[in-house]
Amino acid sequence: MQLTVIGTGYLGAVHAACMADIGHDVLGVDVDSEKITALIEGRPPFYEPGFDDVLTRALASGRLRFTTSLREAAAHGEVHFICVGTPQQAGSLAADMRYVDAVVDGLVPHLPASCLLVGKSTVPVGTTARLTSRIADLAPEGVRAEVAWNPEFLREGFAVEDTLRPDRLVAGITSREADETLRRVYAPMLEAGVPYISTDPSTAELVKVAANSFLATKISFINAMAEVCDAAGADVATLADALGHDTRIGRRFLNAGLGFGGGCLPKDIRAFTARAEELGVGPAIAFLHQVDEINERQRTRTVALARQMAGGDLTGRRVAVLGATFKPDSDDVRDSPALAVAMSLHRQGADVRVHDPEGTANARLAHPELRCSSDLLTVCQGAEIVLHLTEWGQYREVDPVKLARVVRRPVLIDGRNALSHDTWRAAGWTVKALGRPASP
Ligand code: NAD
Repeated sequence: MQLTVIGTGYLGAVHAACMADIGHDVLGVDVDSEKITALIEGRPPFYEPGFDDVLTRALASGRLRFTTSLREAAAHGEVHFICVGTPQQAGSLAADMRYVDAVVDGLVPHLPASCLLVGKSTVPVGTTARLTSRIADLAPEGVRAEVAWNPEFLREGFAVEDTLRPDRLVAGITSREADETLRRVYAPMLEAGVPYISTDPSTAELVKVAANSFLATKISFINAMAEVCDAAGADVATLADALGHDTRIGRRFLNAGLGFGGGCLPKDIRAFTARAEELGVGPAIAFLHQVDEINERQRTRTVALARQMAGGDLTGRRVAVLGATFKPDSDDVRDSPALAVAMSLHRQGADVRVHDPEGTANARLAHPELRCSSDLLTVCQGAEIVLHLTEWGQYREVDPVKLARVVRRPVLIDGRNALSHDTWRAAGWTVKALGRPASP
């Protein structure tokens, strides 16, 4: 099928390459010409495991091309996927829909024939209906551009796997034709047994924000328990294990620590509360404000722990931060909890050095005042406190005996509760973590 993918960021670039990989003829579109040049040259504009392979393969097949021209896109696609950003609006909790609207306004007047516009971006419920009336005024005479919503659930770090083998596909459609078109797009996945849920657009739009709200709530729940554990002298890690054995609860997303961040979860739950207010049901999901607050508090609590370990004053204290990205296996630093903590330590006068395997370039762009490096030993050299803030696998491989030799004081704050505290303590480290009892 002739597909266009508009917006080639973390979501769209992977979607475009994977759609070409399963046999479609794909044109990727972005307003960012540097990104488009990189993609044309087969250079991934961001770090995502496995993406370079699928990009190279798709380009070599001749089924994947890129452009900055929406006119070219209009001529190419029988299905147009909308994958542009929907960030938080400045000064509001609501989603900024200007990029989605710009795509519709730029594309629809040039459509030569009837086609399907499929939104994948995370949007406020009601967006499909709103865009449908916007399009009615924009479409050329005799051209029918139908809108469907097919929210994306991929996780950065697993984006290729999640796109080719999703847990489920959700299609918010208003006609049988739209349903059939989407089933044709995803035919290889459907043949492989991926569940396909066909529903109305509002339900589809809500599935995405409801899923993110649930995950955020689960994380904030265990972080709230961590705070109670700290007050009661209990251990949140054991608590989470014991809770997780209950199959109704499950162990995943119950890791207490610094909490969630990134370009999705925080802004999605905020946008959901703003949309619920508009719909007159704000109180129904007001608990999400608390989920957000609990999450933010883990950052403050981690900084407070560092200050306490520094004897109450961070001025001039050398601190090593392990991790800049919001999660491992990504270079994405949007609303990164690790960088938020690093910046807070910096503002309190600490001499902060940040390590990340893939995120230093983005971290420097976001916070030029921080010193970032991808060399772990350089970052830890002379440190008085080491904070483990992003759960990269390689931090679990660090030899605490060797690291103890380069730091000034062997003090570790495990902000992700992911290192072996016994091993680090045996190597002479003082180890602190939220929700965990003081070292024996
Ligand atoms: P991103 O910022 O990485 O990518 C967005 C891209 O859209 C950018 O490259 C930008 O240049 C481009 N763009 C903006 N305006 C445009 C226009 N008018 N025409 C063409 N391109 C334009 O964002 P992302 O992380 O890929 O997220 C995109 C959407 O997908 C968001 O709604 C997000 O919530 C949702 N989502 C993201 C993920 C994820 O893990 N990143 C997962 C699921 C859903």
